[in-house]
Amino acid sequence: MKHHPWIFSGAISRTEPRFTTGDWADVYTSDGRFIAHGWYDEKSHIILHLLSWDEEETMSGQSVQELAVESIRRRMEMIDSDGTNALRLIHGEADFLPGVAVDIYAGIARIVISSRFADHFLHDIVKAVQEEADPEMIEAVVDRSYASSENLREYRRIFINGEETDKEDGTGNHLFLEDSLLYSLERGNMQKSGFYCDQRENRKIAESYAEGRDVLDLFSYTGGFTLHVLRGGCRSVKAVDSSESALKTLQSQVQLNIDNGNIPADSSARLSAVAADCFEYIRSIGENEYDMMILDPPKLAKTKSALDNALKAYKDLNRVAMMKIGNGGIIFTFSCSGAVSREDFRMMLGWAAKDAGVEIQILETLSAGPDHPIRLSFPESEYLKGYVLRVLK
Ligand code: SAH
Repeated sequence: MKHHPWIFSGAISRTEPRFTTGDWADVYTSDGRFIAHGWYDEKSHIILHLLSWDEEETMSGQSVQELAVESIRRRMEMIDSDGTNALRLIHGEADFLPGVAVDIYAGIARIVISSRFADHFLHDIVKAVQEEADPEMIEAVVDRSYASSENLREYRRIFINGEETDKEDGTGNHLFLEDSLLYSLERGNMQKSGFYCDQRENRKIAESYAEGRDVLDLFSYTGGFTLHVLRGGCRSVKAVDSSESALKTLQSQVQLNIDNGNIPADSSARLSAVAADCFEYIRSIGENEYDMMILDPPKLAKTKSALDNALKAYKDLNRVAMMKIGNGGIIFTFSCSGAVSREDFRMMLGWAAKDAGVEIQILETLSAGPDHPIRLSFPESEYLKGYVLRVLK
């Protein structure tokens, strides 16, 4: 059963009656058989988002709210208030809600909108989040990287008790837990201080490799991997990111976890943080300086057309890492581009290894955690791909 949820405008031969953005539309084969109920958006290259393949169903905002409720219920059981209270409640198309991502960080929920569908049904989604997860605050933001392609105005809206308010949500830090480590979000500045919970399981794995190693955490952001390798007993860790504010948060989170006894007291002595462009920085390091590296770049291919250039950038980064790391060193390498398939990514690693003149063993195959499910009928939902590599020289 193939249920891919996107229909591009070129795939439609006839439209009747005339639809406008925001209409529900039924989709039929050329010989008149029902396929699915879709949501029509003439301004998007995805002219129809398909939501239900059940002809009997009547679609409305209520159906959207129900899909959101079902998704959140699937997630709530994964929350463990002593260990992890931050996770993804709704993962877009993989949870049958196009362009809707919802994360919860302890009592604060954040809705990230990357389709006009999500914008249109925002109130139904807010209602579901409030009723099911009961957060003290919900923040809704438009994903900047989709704003122009989806014709969306950027905004940030706040909801308290499910009601929209223009009252700022206060100042100070909001704390949450992932794998028994503390993280903080700066209230009022959350847009800049979000958190990637998709790497949760991979951070745990990184911790298990860290003992005694000198680690280079490239694209460290606020230090999810850094905190784990510190707890795992690395000899040293250097965190590198182009964002000074992310590194500032990283350093304060390391201190916070030392103060709470979550990581050893000598952690700040083992840590250094550098603000730099990682593609350049990695060229500047010495050979054998590190025996563990984490390469977690941002999404380099936003679309299929950007794929070739993105693969070149991934290859370059991985090739230099393979050349610089010590013999037997461990590389955690990732791509979070939906447009890069696992086959592309693995092929790219093969070319990087060839050019670096090294042999590679894949020790583990990595993906996002179970709160970011991969929907089989929507291969793009396998956006986070990674490997643990051993480099042999
Ligand atoms: N590993 C992180 C998430 C990385 S997100 C974690 O576990 O939380 C990607 C990061 O790459 C962002 O922090 C962004 O600031 C940074 N970034 C983007 N381009 C960069 C570049 N050219 N050099 C260094 N950092 C970059």
